[in-house]
Amino acid sequence: MNAVAQLEKIAEILKLDDEMLSRLKVPERFIEVNFPVEMDDGSVKIFKGFRSQHNSARGPYKGGLRFSPEVSESEVKALSMWMSWKCSVANIPYGGGKGGVIVNTKELSEAEIERLSRAFIHSIHEVIGPDKDIPAPDMYTNPQIMAWMVDEYSKDVGENTPAVITGKPIDKGGSEGRTAATGQGGVYILEALAEKKRMKAEETKVAVQGIGNVGYYFAKLAAELGFKIVALSDSRGAVYSQNGLDVEAVKKHKSDTGSIGGFSGEGVEEISNEDLLKLEVDVLVPAAVENVITKGNADGIKADFIIELANGPVTPEADEILHKNGVLFVPDILANSGGVTVSYFEWVQNKKEEKWSEEEVLSKLKDQIVPAFNDTMDMMDELKSDMRTAAYAIAVRRIVDEMRQY
Ligand code: NAD
Repeated sequence: MNAVAQLEKIAEILKLDDEMLSRLKVPERFIEVNFPVEMDDGSVKIFKGFRSQHNSARGPYKGGLRFSPEVSESEVKALSMWMSWKCSVANIPYGGGKGGVIVNTKELSEAEIERLSRAFIHSIHEVIGPDKDIPAPDMYTNPQIMAWMVDEYSKDVGENTPAVITGKPIDKGGSEGRTAATGQGGVYILEALAEKKRMKAEETKVAVQGIGNVGYYFAKLAAELGFKIVALSDSRGAVYSQNGLDVEAVKKHKSDTGSIGGFSGEGVEEISNEDLLKLEVDVLVPAAVENVITKGNADGIKADFIIELANGPVTPEADEILHKNGVLFVPDILANSGGVTVSYFEWVQNKKEEKWSEEEVLSKLKDQIVPAFNDTMDMMDELKSDMRTAAYAIAVRRIVDEMRQY
């Protein structure tokens, strides 16, 4: 379902009037910039970039900047709307934004990427700011790029302004705890879910698809709490052990050999990524790529719960099948909001000129994400809906309540 169709469905549930719906369907502001960048050979190329600012009722716009050949006006607009819902369901005081530049960074040198990053931020500096719009890394952008952008913005406005962008390197005002944040947020949700459903960690079998940043931290931290991680995978295949895997040993094998395949141990067997999805487990955690649970395989899912740490792992047709089959899925917008929540903490630290320890950051994350999860569970009971519908409803309702006050 596209972003507007999803919003229309929620508007109907919340009985929003047409005027409110029309306001929410479009970004409050959208800008396109075309800016010159000097290449290493002395030639000058013009690049096209965008920034979409969807809604600021709950606070300044927040959302990533991506560098990719696929960046487009419609994609950036839809993702900025999605960020409004995400910040709102996570209950952090931000609205949604998104931006990007149409570029293939693999074709550029590091010096060219630096000049491009600086030129882009210079061209949008009037519409962003620590109290207006706070970008962050996204596809093919990273902490170093954020550091160049903060430096350029600070020169533009004549003062050091680290709070204009999050996702910075730690020594440039970045936050401790950001690397593990998304996985850790997922674990806090797993714990809260287990408590609600009276499941003991040691008796809870979990399968995790993906062992990248998100999947690895999730599996490692969940195993530390006693949850049984019975399956892990990468893009080439998966390993399974009904007694539980040693997450660190699997990760080490992957680092040493380049893939999870060939990992051996007592009771360990190799399976496919498709088999992993259909395992007899309590909790399934897609933490890799989008569209892995579809109408083709949703009926075969045996897990009682799905925690969507990847973005968009379940298609809308599969949503219906899972809901009908009684599978409870915690939607991406909530399940992987640990990352944006710690970005918010980075901004707070920058504004207050404070530096929090990783322990402090992660404990504050728990205080933020567990109530967000509980609120969404309550909304699900109120609407008698699936949890994705409940998360969108709560997000849109909070924004609309704020808009009606002005
Ligand atoms: P990553 O690149 O570090 O890891 C991706 C993992 O998925 C790798 O282990 C890779 O081998 C595996 N993979 C790729 N294709 C696969 C396939 N077809 N089947 C099974 N496994 C496959 O990425 P990440 O940062 O861990 O992000 C994972 C997902 O989480 C993405 O959807 C991302 O958008 C989402 N997400 C990430 C963050 C974050 O903080 N990193 C925040 C919110 C959402």
